[in-house]
Amino acid sequence: MFENLSDRLSGVLDKLTRQGALSEEDVSTALREVRVALLEADVSLPVARDFIKRVQEKATGQAVTKSVTPGQQVIKIVHDELVATLAGDDENAGELRVDSPPAPILMVGLQGSGKTTTTAKLALRLTDRGKKRVLMASLDTSRPAAMEQLAVLGTQIGVDTLPIVPGQSPVQIAKRAKQQASLGGYDIYMLDTAGRLSIDDALMAEVEAVRDEAKPHETILVVDGLTGQDAVNTAENFDQRIGITGVVLTRMDGDGRGGAALSMRAVTGKPIKFVGLGEKMDALEEFHPQRIAGRILGMGDIVSLVEKAQEQIEAEQAEKMMKRFQKGQFNMNDLKNQLEQMMKMGGMQGVMGMLPGMGKMAKQMEGAGIDDKVLRRQIALINSMTKAERRNPALLQASRKKRIAAGAGLEVQELNRLIKMHRQMADVMKKMGKMGKKGLMRGGLG
Ligand code: GDP
Repeated sequence: MFENLSDRLSGVLDKLTRQGALSEEDVSTALREVRVALLEADVSLPVARDFIKRVQEKATGQAVTKSVTPGQQVIKIVHDELVATLAGDDENAGELRVDSPPAPILMVGLQGSGKTTTTAKLALRLTDRGKKRVLMASLDTSRPAAMEQLAVLGTQIGVDTLPIVPGQSPVQIAKRAKQQASLGGYDIYMLDTAGRLSIDDALMAEVEAVRDEAKPHETILVVDGLTGQDAVNTAENFDQRIGITGVVLTRMDGDGRGGAALSMRAVTGKPIKFVGLGEKMDALEEFHPQRIAGRILGMGDIVSLVEKAQEQIEAEQAEKMMKRFQKGQFNMNDLKNQLEQMMKMGGMQGVMGMLPGMGKMAKQMEGAGIDDKVLRRQIALINSMTKAERRNPALLQASRKKRIAAGAGLEVQELNRLIKMHRQMADVMKKMGKMGKKGLMRGGLG
């Protein structure tokens, strides 16, 4: 899986790690090569373009972390963006939502994609690891051989299949599967729908009718990973017409270019839940974006090295700031820093509760109706101050205030509230400073 892409990417990025300093030009050149590698792996053009743009933005915007090389840092950024591209915001891709029994799972896809094989593989996984009772039913009325195939696989893996009754329509079979599943006490029943060689209206209408009858909890599209962008197009088509909840990419054991895996989530918005890695019944793997990104990049050591270095830097920064506070230094830059931290950590309560002695003030702020919107406005006000004003808030007199508020598009009143808050916080910091480290540790101001 992903061998070619992985070789290409590590070749390009490896060069970066061997350079001490990187110019913007070096990074651009490397990213151009990354882009070519992605396109050659059949990643769709908009996805590749977007990917490079995000990496470029992050690479230029970021200060280089001590103790790692710029090249290593670029690799970490590429890795993180790979994960983001593969995962979207979904972390539990490999899970199936099967709630109240008997839960219907609809399996859809083109003929030859590996749909029947994957149905059986999933059934085996659900019975083996999920300890569920599963019933499989083939709805491929136009191909008796396909119905037989499912029955054979069922016997092989020890999973029940719905008896074949010739002459029934797919919807009738779906109804019978539900009845049998209820009567037989099954947790899940899987409907293996008919496939065609290409997407046609009759097929879609048939699958729609089955979907409306069965009301599936999951609708899993099986697509051939070797078909690259076609796989992504197929997914888009099925999703528009049927509505899918997830994708299984088959034949990822082959020497395909792997691009479908990278484009799927970004283009369709639907997660890849599993990948098929062979013809055997156990050749099915959960799709873990982190793990897959690691495999594509093949540079796990560097990624964790950079992660550790970044954690170290954050800890050092926090300590430095604490030292300043202890000396009674707390200017508008510090306040901005705090406000930004609060935004990141989910609002006032989160972060203030964690700072020693800040619990009370957090409550006051909450009482004053300070939320994220207010935080954003306060940051805008500080941004509108000059460097000198931020370092020395005592400079903030009437005419300056007017300019600052206008610059942020806000009222002077709001700036006054910010200045008052700054003064209160600075006072607290000063008191903490006087109490020294011991006082801080006890949280004596709470
Ligand atoms: P269907 O027409 O979509 O139901 O496709 P089948 O399930 O009959 O599969 C078609 C062929 O692809 C069979 O020979 C399967 O063994 C094979 N196949 C399915 N999944 C995979 C996979 O992940 N890797 C490989 N190498 N072959 C697969």
